[in-house]
Amino acid sequence: MIIVKETYRSRNDFKAVYKCELCGHEQEGWGYSDGFFYCTVMPNAICPKCGKNSKGETPEECKGRMGRDFYLDLR
Ligand SMILES: [Zn+2]
Repeated sequence: MIIVKETYRSRNDFKAVYKCELCGHEQEGWGYSDGFFYCTVMPNAICPKCGKNSKGETPEECKGRMGRDFYLDLR
């Protein structure tokens, strides 16, 4: 998932509209402004619509490579 635009921020917590690079699905959700979130969580987060991350992996494939799967806090 990538960020389309930030919609709210309080210190390091923010809300943004995220977009799936694979299917184009857009959804607002929470984020935390640090390197782990930007470099690890976002590119590995599973899209709620197509079920894949930025690399095109399913949660099972992501678990096999990373040891866990990742999801954004979309609410
Ligand atoms: Zn998607």
